[in-house]
Amino acid sequence: MEEKIYDTVIIGSGPAGLTAAIYNIRAALKTVVVAGNIPGGQLTITTLVENWPGFPTGIGGLKLMMDMREQVKNLGVEVRDGLVDKVSKEDSVFKVELQDKTVLRGRAVIVAVGAGARWLELPKEKELIGKGISGCATCDGNFFRDKTVAVVGGGNTACEDAEFLAKICQKVYLIHRRDTLRATAIEAERVLKDERIEKIWDSEVIGINDQLRITNYELEKLQNIKIKNVKTGEEKILEIDGLFVAVGRIPATDFLKGLINLREDGYVILAGDTEYTTMTSVPGIFAAGDCMDDKYRQAVVAAGSGAKAAIDAERWLKT
Ligand code: NAP
Repeated sequence: MEEKIYDTVIIGSGPAGLTAAIYNIRAALKTVVVAGNIPGGQLTITTLVENWPGFPTGIGGLKLMMDMREQVKNLGVEVRDGLVDKVSKEDSVFKVELQDKTVLRGRAVIVAVGAGARWLELPKEKELIGKGISGCATCDGNFFRDKTVAVVGGGNTACEDAEFLAKICQKVYLIHRRDTLRATAIEAERVLKDERIEKIWDSEVIGINDQLRITNYELEKLQNIKIKNVKTGEEKILEIDGLFVAVGRIPATDFLKGLINLREDGYVILAGDTEYTTMTSVPGIFAAGDCMDDKYRQAVVAAGSGAKAAIDAERWLKT
């Protein structure tokens, strides 16, 4: 049997990947989406999305992405869950190998893999993920109902997380390394006004479970963090049950190392010197969304860049 060759293999199923799929299928291209680890991307772990046009009272992130996925499928796009392990080029066709050993072949590839949680890189942090430490308040917040938690970060994610947790937790600290929030004005104002959230400014988390208080069994859980005021140098221990790390994202581009040009921090570098503005350093591989954008990082911007990548791929395939 002759092996199926897609016109475009789209890697990622957030707003960038799914918008690219809508454009490519409507251009009559054989299109497949590899949906990734969190099908639907980061928006599926956001509560209410108020900045996606067309929804007067906002829309749930999960609902928005599930609807987008259904739209894509209804248009005839094949959507496969799973993660990509490797992309290579054989003759003029790209070979996309999934972790489950499935191989997809495409004449063009659109990389729309988004960016995952950044961690504090402190000792014991990784071991305690799922045991008190989390990168997603909407996913794990419920485990900390009526408990004491801290959120680290000063961006939109940290602010949204703190707001969300303040509704269910007994106590919420927001720890930020500066004294001004990076979040958009509307989100920052909500947090600043919210008396349920205790703000700890100019402070960094410098230790996890440095001073343990309970038995061996309990050692496995988060008990406290050590924070340091970066202006005064004062250090103190904060007893908490949960720590939500919201200090930004890292693009999920590891599997592309050595194939296309990436920045040291993992962001995709676009070729820049071609008429195809979303083309990477390898002709035929395009990129869209948060994996190539550390500046705007918005769902609508990602969707727009997905459309651009799809149009670029379509035009490039015709040449
Ligand atoms: P972000 O905007 O990059 O903010 C990261 C925050 O973490 C910053 O306040 C930063 O401090 C702090 N930080 C970074 N590294 C740190 C470290 N090692 N220790 C302590 N603090 C550290 O990331 P984000 O909040 O995840 O948001 C990512 C993008 O998605 C943004 O563009 C955001 O607007 C967007 N977003 C939008 C929505 C929405 O529209 N509903 C929701 C969530 C996110 P500094 O401020 O000092 O740099």
